[in-house]
Amino acid sequence: MFTANVRSVRYCPNMAAQPFPLIDLRSAIDRREVMPYFQPIVELRSGQLWGFEVLTRWHHAQLGVIPPDQFIPMAESTGLIGHLSETILAQAFASVQAFSATPAGFLDRLTLSVNVSPVQLRDRSLPGQIRSAAELAGFPLRQLMIEITESALVGNMELALAIARDLKSLQIRLALDDFGTGYASLRHLHTLPFDELKIDRSFVHSMTHRRESRKIAAAIVGLGHSLGLTTVAEGVEDKKHADMLFYLGCELGQGWLYGQPIPARDVPAILEKQTLSAPAGAALLAADMALHLEVAPAQRLAQLQAIYEGAPVGLCFLDRDFRYISQNKRLSEISSTPLGPRLGRTVGEVAPLAFLQIEPYLKRALAGEAISGLEILTQKPGGRGEMNTILVSLQPARDEANEVVGISIAAVDITDRKRTEQALRESEDHYRHTVELSPHVPWTADPEGRILGAGPRWEALTGLKLSETLGYGWRNAVHPDDLGPTEEKWGASLRTGDPVDVEFRIGPGNGTWRWMRSRAAARRGENGEIIRWYGMVEDIEDRKRAEEALRKAEKRLEGLLKTNAAG
Ligand code: C2E
Ligand code: CA
Ligand code: CA
Repeated sequence: MFTANVRSVRYCPNMAAQPFPLIDLRSAIDRREVMPYFQPIVELRSGQLWGFEVLTRWHHAQLGVIPPDQFIPMAESTGLIGHLSETILAQAFASVQAFSATPAGFLDRLTLSVNVSPVQLRDRSLPGQIRSAAELAGFPLRQLMIEITESALVGNMELALAIARDLKSLQIRLALDDFGTGYASLRHLHTLPFDELKIDRSFVHSMTHRRESRKIAAAIVGLGHSLGLTTVAEGVEDKKHADMLFYLGCELGQGWLYGQPIPARDVPAILEKQTLSAPAGAALLAADMALHLEVAPAQRLAQLQAIYEGAPVGLCFLDRDFRYISQNKRLSEISSTPLGPRLGRTVGEVAPLAFLQIEPYLKRALAGEAISGLEILTQKPGGRGEMNTILVSLQPARDEANEVVGISIAAVDITDRKRTEQALRESEDHYRHTVELSPHVPWTADPEGRILGAGPRWEALTGLKLSETLGYGWRNAVHPDDLGPTEEKWGASLRTGDPVDVEFRIGPGNGTWRWMRSRAAARRGENGEIIRWYGMVEDIEDRKRAEEALRKAEKRLEGLLKTNAAG
């Protein structure tokens, strides 16, 4: 009977390469030479061990270790697969129970993923067999994941669904294996109660160098999220894969980066380590981590959406053809076009005036440059030809492979600020003119009497530059006869804090002098201490001359009166 079966294994595609007869396989199974290997599955986020996939190996006395794709097809086509599966499960469960030395609680969270063949999904007794094996070994079924390949589901879908429901009722979870390589995958996802989606390693391998694979991987992860499924990437061989998958939002990874399938005796060493790799995405900035790590992708999206809509800043996203893909409410408020008509149209169509000003910068952003501080003029919404000033920044938006896929734009209406700045500039101009034209010289000094600043007219009056005047330099312009009395009065005020009022002559050094009156008062701080002196030098030459003339006239009058009296 077995010989007949061996002959019939021509159905098996790998048979030509297989130098063993079926009888060998059956006895190998019974002798436990066909045994489970364990490959770690880890959390991409933390690098921590999440579970193991059970992968079968045949330890052949002559041929060494034979991989499953060389004997599983034979087992499937000869009806041996049920028996093989049962003994693998029994061995795997027993092994896990023996790993009890690891930290308490950790093993209770560990998931064991087991492959079942398409033919087994046509056998209604499968759930019962799994349950018996688990109960015998005391393994909790909620820690078990059954991996089903898509090809298993071709054919009797009702039966597969009934079996899947039985498995679920035992708290066993289901994974759809090799997703994307089989037939009618989406229908399966739709029909069967899956918990997990495994991205086939063919996509993972090429995702770092093939855009298409990357897009497929991204789409599978997105699909998984939207259906509430955990996504697992197979074939993660290096850190680049892990980082990219993590960036896409994939939760779990499995592959040589974390470990090859190993026999049960080597598992305790792995359990001790627990963290098998540096977390993926470690290169991200701490601030990004908060965004990418702590929040599940769906929440992250909702959070970003709320920020986008609620921001007091106009935001929009343009594709590579400068078409509006999205925009927030604030942008339609500050621009003259309402929300609806914008989407799908280009900036050139919607806002020709703005486009004229911004186009060269959009091109630079597409080439990867971030641009900020751009001021453009737009028509005031509803206004009659009035203009608004909008401050714009452009940020290239990149996909997971760093390709620029569009431009994110932030816009702030700074019309009011511009107006205030303009008013301020005008009032500064007024002030400057007033000071420049004024015959007075304002000045300030520190509490020790050092001059800190003086109005521009001082230079015209004395020939001393501001730098020569500061500190005690002003003394060089004072008439030698007046310097002593002036310093005396100033010194007294510095000591007492009383206002100073002093008259002195100053000159440009050519022997001509003009009379000045300098008055100043102290400004005090909270505790009464002097923090600054503010003063004003007033040109009193004309007054002095008038006084002098008056004095002379008085003298003449006096003389005249005296002569008259004598006469
Ligand atoms: P699978 O379920 O897709 O298992 C993943 C395969 O990818 C395993 O091959 C594993 O060794 C390999 N692999 C893991 N990480 C990497 C990696 O980073 N790079 C590459 N290139 N490969 C990686 P394996 O163990 O030879 O298993 C082959 C297939 O045999 C499995 O594919 C599964 O479909 C089947 N199989 C294995 N054990 C059993 C079993 O007990 N029952 C059934 N029905 N099928 C099994
Ligand atoms: Ca699998
Ligand atoms: Ca797989």
